[in-house]
Amino acid sequence: PLTSLIPSAITRQIEFKLVKRGFQFNVMVVGQTGLGKSTLINTLFASHLVESKGRTEPEVAPRATTEIHPQSHVIVENGVKLRLNIIDTPGYGDQINNDGCWDPIVKYIKDQHSAYLRKELTAMRDRFIPDTRIHCCLFFINPTGHTLKPIDIVVLKKLAEVVNVVPVIAKADSLTLEEREVFKQRVMSEMLHNQIRLYPFDSEDNDEEELQLNERIREMLPFAVVGSERTVVIDGKPVRGRKNRWGVINCEDERHCEFVYLRNFLTRTHLQDLIETTAQIHYETFRSKQLLALKE
Ligand code: GDP
Ligand code: MG
Repeated sequence: PLTSLIPSAITRQIEFKLVKRGFQFNVMVVGQTGLGKSTLINTLFASHLVESKGRTEPEVAPRATTEIHPQSHVIVENGVKLRLNIIDTPGYGDQINNDGCWDPIVKYIKDQHSAYLRKELTAMRDRFIPDTRIHCCLFFINPTGHTLKPIDIVVLKKLAEVVNVVPVIAKADSLTLEEREVFKQRVMSEMLHNQIRLYPFDSEDNDEEELQLNERIREMLPFAVVGSERTVVIDGKPVRGRKNRWGVINCEDERHCEFVYLRNFLTRTHLQDLIETTAQIHYETFRSKQLLALKE
């Protein structure tokens, strides 16, 4: 399935242009501690990584709970170089009182909008404003097989107002394929019920091909993923995988999990749209609110 998720030549050309302009793609990961956020990031770019900046040394002391830190990577995807910034966030919802536990995360997203707006207003002649706005927020869902936690719904609502939210089922190897399907449907109906507006959005500019692509993504959400920091050898090829007593899970095998779909979605099919939607919808909403407030 999903052969149409292969990028078209046009998408590739646009990517090239974006790269020449020195564009940045900023992805944030959010979710409870221990759901495999850091592992998945590591898995996403394992075979494509060219260069990394930021904290990559092993963490000696546990990370402070309020610390949000960006890491910069250059990856080669499809023969195209991409500068990718990953913003790992501390797990939320770990405390007894979780009031406002999402505040630092939402604040971080808004701060990037406000920094961009300041630059736009003051440095009109700068042809290029460094873009630190979050283009995609991967939201990690606990693979309970039951429902979302109330706190998840609160956080999802807050996030969806300011950023493109893409839900993923973490550690999908803990669910059977059947459980996975049922869980997906339940999660999506909860999203609908709570009026959480997930990415992708259809717009008038979308052509038939793009609308179809969006529909396919919606049918698949949330991406059920498995991450690993280990390399296993399958058919003589080193791949990211998890080995246990009864077998090996290959993170890159579509029959095992949807990791490859997520990666294609992020770095190929929806890369440009994630960036544009951030600028045209989320940033514009922020911007007009701010400018209106200034006038009053
Ligand atoms: P974080 O707190 O969300 O950043 O979680 P980590 O990436 O630190 O992972 C927490 C633990 O879960 C580690 O022991 C990982 O090896 C394990 N883990 C990560 N991803 C997966 C997965 O897809 N499946 C399984 N079974 N375990 C995973
Ligand atoms: Mg982590």
